[in-house]
This record gives sequence, C-alpha cells and structure tokens, in this order.
Amino acid sequence: MKKILLILLFVSIYTFGKTPTPKLIVFISIDQMRADYFERYNQYFIGGFHRLYSKGIMYSNADLNYAASETGPGHATLGTGCYPWKNGILSNDWVERTTFNDMYCVSDSTAKSVDGAGGGASPRNLVVTAVGDWLKQQSPKSKVITASSKDRAAILMGGKNPDYAFWYNKTVGGMVTSDYYTKTLPLWVKTFNASNWSEKNVPAQWSKTLPDSDYLKIGPDEFAAEGKRKSATTFPYGFTIGKKAEEISGSPYGDKIIVDFAMDAVKNEGLGQRGVTDLLCISLSNCDYVGHAQGPDSHEMLDLLVNIDRYLGELFSFLDNNIGKENFVVALSADHAVCPLPEFNSQFRNVAAKRYISATDIKPKIEEFNSMFKKELNSPEDILIKNAFINYSAGAKAGLDSIQLEQRVRAGLLSVDAYVDIYFRRELMTREKSDKLFIEKYRNSYYALRGKDYLYRIRENCIISSRSSGTTHGSPYSYDTHVPLIFWWNDAVPATITREVHSADAAPTLAKFAGFSFPKNLDGVPLKEVVK
Ligand SMILES: [Zn+2]
Repeated sequence: MKKILLILLFVSIYTFGKTPTPKLIVFISIDQMRADYFERYNQYFIGGFHRLYSKGIMYSNADLNYAASETGPGHATLGTGCYPWKNGILSNDWVERTTFNDMYCVSDSTAKSVDGAGGGASPRNLVVTAVGDWLKQQSPKSKVITASSKDRAAILMGGKNPDYAFWYNKTVGGMVTSDYYTKTLPLWVKTFNASNWSEKNVPAQWSKTLPDSDYLKIGPDEFAAEGKRKSATTFPYGFTIGKKAEEISGSPYGDKIIVDFAMDAVKNEGLGQRGVTDLLCISLSNCDYVGHAQGPDSHEMLDLLVNIDRYLGELFSFLDNNIGKENFVVALSADHAVCPLPEFNSQFRNVAAKRYISATDIKPKIEEFNSMFKKELNSPEDILIKNAFINYSAGAKAGLDSIQLEQRVRAGLLSVDAYVDIYFRRELMTREKSDKLFIEKYRNSYYALRGKDYLYRIRENCIISSRSSGTTHGSPYSYDTHVPLIFWWNDAVPATITREVHSADAAPTLAKFAGFSFPKNLDGVPLKEVVK
C-alpha cells in the first residue's frame, strides 16, 4: 500500500510539477521585427502571431543589450545565449586585425558547394556552441535543422554542429547549404528545389490583404523617402512569369517559401515524431528587406506582417495535426529592430531626425581630417586606416602617446556631425566603471580578437545611408534593440511580463524548459515565467 502511495505521489509530482518534455522546439526569428508591431497591429493578426501574443508569455521589454544591432550578431546571440563579446560575431562584416582583410561573419572559403550550389559559408567564425549543440550533446539522436533566406541567419542560429543549415538561393529557386554540413542534399530537399515552388505558389501580383482603410491609418502608401520595389513604391507589385524565384525577395512570398520548406523538413525528417526532442530554427528575412526599403511605417510592412501571421498560423496548425498541440514549444524573437525613415519621423512624429549620406556627409569629412592630421604630425602614413584602425606607431613617431593620439582622433571624428561619441578599444576591453553613455552595450558587442580600434555612436534618430531612400539599424538605441520575445506552449498561462529581459535569454530558457543543460558562462538566463 505504502509503495502504491509513493508511486502515486511520484506520478503526481511528475505530472503536475513539471511540463512534459517537448518533442519539438520551434525557434523563430523574424529578421528586423520591432516589438511595437505586436501592439500596433495585433488587431489584424488571426494566425501564428495571434496565437503567440494572446496565448503565450510575452516579454514586452526585451532588449538586445549590446550595440551591434545587426543580423549576424543578432542570430548568433539568439542561438548561443552569449553576447557578441563572447560569441565572436561582433558585426556582419569586420576587418581582420592581423591581415586587414575584410571578413563576412559566416564566410568560409574551405566550405564547398553541395550538389552544385551553395558553399562558401559555415559557422567557423562562431566561437561558442549554441542551443542545438547543447541538445545534441545530451541527446545524440535529436535533430537540429535551420532554414532562412539568409546564410548568416540559418548558420548562426544553428550553432557548430546542427544536422543541416539551409538558406535560400534565388538562382536555384530553392534551398542550399555547404559541405560543412553534408556532402549531398537529402532527397526531400532535392525534390523541394525541383518543384518550381515560386512559379507554382507566387501569384501574378502582391496585393494588399486588408481593406485600404486599415493601411491608410498608418500614413500614405506613397512616401518620398520609400525605397522602390521594381521601380514602384505603391501596391500592387507585379511578378514576372519565369522570374518569380528572383523576385520573391522583399515580398511575403520570400518568407512563405521558408515556412513551406520548414513543414517539409518536419515531414521528411520526422521532426518531433521520434521519441526525442528535436530543434527547428526558422529565420524569416523579408521583414528586414521590406523594413530597409519601405520602412517600419509603410503599408508594405503591415501587409507583410499580416501575411507572416497567416503563414505561421498554417505552420502551427500543421504541427498541431502532425505532432500534437501538447508536444511542441515555440519561441519567437528578432535579431534586431529598425529606425523609422528619418523623413517619416520628422514629418509625422515631430522627432528631430536626419539622413546622412555617407558619400557626401561622412567620407569626405573623415578623409579631410585624416589628411589634415597627417600634415600636422608630419606623418607619411595615414592615421586612420580602413575606418577601423588607428596608426599608433605613426602617432608615436610624431611624439604622441596612445592617449594623446586618441584624444586628437576623438576630436577629429566628433567634428563629423553624425557622430556623437567615440569608444576606443582600450575602454571596450575592460569592465571598469565608466560614465560614458551606452558603454556597456558597446562592451557587450566587442570581441577583442576582431574588434576595431574605435567605434562611433551615431546621433539618435539619425541614419547613415548610401541612398536618399530607405532606412537601417545598427545603433544601440532602443528603436534598433527593442525586440519581441514570446514563448508559447499548449499549457502556457498567457501573461505579459514588463521587466527588462534580453534576446540572449531565449536559448537557455528553451534548454531549461526542454530539460537539457546549458553552459554556465552564458550572458542570458532562463526566464522564470517560462521554466518555473
Ligand atoms: Zn537582420
């Protein structure tokens, strides 16, 4: 009798004290998604965003907590739970400190193409493991698969040893990888790529999904500073028969193909159906493409989000039916957010905002300072090199020690109107107390082996652009670093949590939720509302 009671006690503790181990973790990044889209547009969401927002645990104050609000660092941080200062991916591109060669964050010349496409990319530059690696170390039968339009998103979310990382290639009209992962594509991927997906699934034009009146609440469809899509800035946008695979980028269909591919991965690899926990990472890139071109306040952005909501709704229904509602957990976040078009901010929000054109407002000023400084020091060599390094030896030859030289460099760089502060390597490699604004965010971004000699902070609400249209991200300000962070599972008690959390918390939270351990020295922590 005692024994039966003990067993009953054990069973009840197990059943009521712990969430069952999920069979599938779905980790979604919406590239460039701003947190405020959920509040602004929630009324239009009926699919996946709606499920997450209304039935999940929403962290309304999630921040990157580092300055480099770019795609490479963003996905590396989501995947690893470490900021760039530890994970090594300090920006999308950098200049190697030893050779002065340019480096792209996932570039790998030793990674060859597979079945005639892809190649050139791997996680070689990522210096720590990611959530998929932790899972597979403890559960070798688990599968980890990632998919995105962008190589860097698929690769960096996947960590060092996923089963596969796939990214979109417009020439193939399908998904490619590199031989870092596999010598040949699985048959189901070959079949997907041969299916002529775009010609079959992309309609004649991208038209608005909702009534016109819903879009007009945001502002006009036509706006001078909007970037063009195929020489137009207003709906509808046509597709060319026979060229749809090239043209889906910057439209909802660029994301639909990734979601369709993800469902194929679940079906063909048996994800979530094999008695172990699997991990599927999906990064949807078109919010970034549309955000860069037409901006976060555009009709195009609202329509794209409404479409992504529907695609994710289809994905979740598919998982309900094939794996079971109670058997999967979803985390959704973003690699970074975005600055509104400066012209939109000035005109409609009364915010002091400015677009600096790099070729006319920045480069000539820096060149001018560099040549003036050279003359002043009577130096045959440049003092600033590749917008990344300071020529300390040239300064020394002219009798300036490193601190004196930096003071002069700082004064020179701050004569550029777009720059409001300069952070030197010396200040970034320490954790000593500093009064400088945003210094901790810059330190969290600074991986010493790859860091520049100085970083600048741009004036708030301003962007540096090569064009007179579109916008960008990359600053430490909250409009670039405030991202969504939501967890959903079937038994979640819906809640909105307002305390500050970080995108680095996503990976350890998922690990703890699913019952596998994670490295001790992460920057992120498991979030108590999810793992209690
Ligand atoms: Zn991005």
